[in-house]
Amino acid sequence: MRDFDHLLWQVSHRSVHVFKDADGWFLRIMSDCEHLRTDGRCGIYATRPQVCREHSNDFCEQDESIENGAEYYFQDYAQLNAYCAKRFRNWDKRFEMM
Ligand code: SF4
Repeated sequence: MRDFDHLLWQVSHRSVHVFKDADGWFLRIMSDCEHLRTDGRCGIYATRPQVCREHSNDFCEQDESIENGAEYYFQDYAQLNAYCAKRFRNWDKRFEMM
């Protein structure tokens, strides 16, 4: 419940969505990276974060949209909160338990 409470904070931000696929739970950040150059290259390639280094092109959103391919997809607080209320019997009492 603590993890989902944290996800609620994240999905409350504009342009941040949450989804689950076969590999687990992920954030989808719907804005450009500040390091993406106009020519499509990375402006900090040599020192780019580890998550960028581990990213592969095995699956591409151009092949299938995340919304269609994900097991769960939440665009805002209300959607994720409704899911949590169904998933956790004591969701409304989580602050007493954390
Ligand atoms: S590789 Fe990473 S740091 Fe570079 S532009 Fe892409 S997301 Fe940004």
